[in-house]
Amino acid sequence: MNQATLVLIKPDGLKKSLTGNILTRLSETKLDIVGARIVKVSRELAEKHYAMLKDKPFFEELLKYLMGEYHKKKVMALVYYGEDAIQKVRNICGSTNPEEADPVSIRGAYGRITTKGVYENAIHASANPEESEREIKLWFTPEEVILELYPTKAAKKSVEARIWA
Ligand code: UDP
Ligand code: MG
Repeated sequence: MNQATLVLIKPDGLKKSLTGNILTRLSETKLDIVGARIVKVSRELAEKHYAMLKDKPFFEELLKYLMGEYHKKKVMALVYYGEDAIQKVRNICGSTNPEEADPVSIRGAYGRITTKGVYENAIHASANPEESEREIKLWFTPEEVILELYPTKAAKKSVEARIWA
């Protein structure tokens, strides 16, 4: 079944110049990239992204990590699409804990555990279809994804926006 999945190259991955390596590893899946953005992550976005972990002792450190306080204030967000996309990407990422991850996986090769106990594991990937839908809608507008992944509706926006001068 065709699926979409959200990938984030986290701030440690960008700081360590791993973008090319990670994209090359992901290209082994033969999935399609249907959306890509460089994002400066606000606290609000980080809190929403990791809302499920808000009661964990490492939550505050995790927010700081995703916001780039320890590396670079940016994340690369991508949407991959294709057959069994969620599991294919998760397999290449490896286990959450970089010390337990297969050394050949992205997290096994590039991740580390900080002295504060946070797993800096270079990449995020959605774990299931509910999560991927929630996350893609959080990180992308419909116009930023080249496929109509989910139903959309017309709406008039009257917010002040920055445009090219
Ligand atoms: N994390 C951590 N310590 C833990 C569990 C998770 O630092 O004990 C961090 C890690 O960066 C992980 C993220 O929180 O990628 C989200 O955790 P989740 O359980 O969703 O793992 P994932 O889906 O990223 O494999
Ligand atoms: Mg997760």
